[in-house]
Amino acid sequence: MGENIIPLADLRYAATPPQVPERAGPPRGLLLDSLGRPLRDLRISVTDRCNFRCSYCMPKEVFDKDYRFLPHASLLSFEEITRVARVFVAQGVRKLRLTGGEPLLRKDLEQLVAQLAALRTAEGAAPELTLTTNGSLLARKARALRGAGLRRVTVSLDALDDAVFRRMNDVDFPVADVLAGIDAALAAGFAPVKVNMVVKRGTNDHEIVPLARHLRERYGARAVLRCIEFMDVGATNGWRMDEVLPSREVLARIAAAFPIEPIEAGVPGETAQRWRYRDGGGEVGVISSVTQAFCHECNRARLSTEGKLFLCLFASRGHDLRALLRGRRDDGRPWSDDEIAAALELIWSARDDRYSALRAAQAGAPSRGERRVEMHYIGG
Ligand code: SF4
Repeated sequence: MGENIIPLADLRYAATPPQVPERAGPPRGLLLDSLGRPLRDLRISVTDRCNFRCSYCMPKEVFDKDYRFLPHASLLSFEEITRVARVFVAQGVRKLRLTGGEPLLRKDLEQLVAQLAALRTAEGAAPELTLTTNGSLLARKARALRGAGLRRVTVSLDALDDAVFRRMNDVDFPVADVLAGIDAALAAGFAPVKVNMVVKRGTNDHEIVPLARHLRERYGARAVLRCIEFMDVGATNGWRMDEVLPSREVLARIAAAFPIEPIEAGVPGETAQRWRYRDGGGEVGVISSVTQAFCHECNRARLSTEGKLFLCLFASRGHDLRALLRGRRDDGRPWSDDEIAAALELIWSARDDRYSALRAAQAGAPSRGERRVEMHYIGG
């Protein structure tokens, strides 16, 4: 397919062409949105593809063999991703998270990790470089990612029981391979490894305590379980409130098996509420986007695989940064980093997203009438 033909996938989510101010000064180093929330965390989706078909994210019925994923030509190159990340770091971002789809499916990902690991803030510090994976390829890749400069890994694991896990990933993938990935990540020096479990009432909630027990006994404080409430992301996962197990119930089940106590919140904008096991066996966390929204501290932006910037996980519309990366000004000159930084400032300062808070207030999904973006497209 020729470069100038815009593949169908690109039109899937509307994107606003970014405005660039006439005069673009140097980056400010700190951007606040319309609710006073700083931009601190950039999640970068490096592929919209995944080798799993988890029903709460990429149900097989929708993402079947005929589904048209983004053509390679429309994906941002590693150099383009690094350039965008450099601009965001200059505007105050301190944490970069690589996501997908499944990021380890992107070929030679270590090269991108090495480029991002070389970035520095104005103060000379390295931004925190992390990655979220389904763990299926981690056993093979952990050492190379660590060597390239990756600092932390989060592994998605929705059950310990092999049959339940295979049903949830819906591609019959064995749990043993993901557990081997966690072992490999720890052996490569990624401790602690966070283990994210999306809890769906009636599907895998009976796996919470067995998984907590397994991680405690095998890894202690080197692996941290985080239970995530099932969310109404996108428009394809058939979300229902009665399939949400509120975090307070999750904690009650864990506490009944292993006494816990709360840990003071760490950095502002942290999504997880953290609890430690009283017996020193490590910690556990919950992420409660449905029952305890945390939009008031949300400092995250998400970059889709082909360069659209989304300001909320539940957004319907993005901002087309790729147009600035690949486009030219009226005078034919390419856009400079300072100009892209200035465009980002305009975008972020107008941000007022707080979907989960509105959902809670309205006791139902606030709708703007537009289709919400799919999680596999912008990363969780
Ligand atoms: S719903 Fe949107 S604004 Fe609220 S915490 Fe999630 S991503 Fe942030």
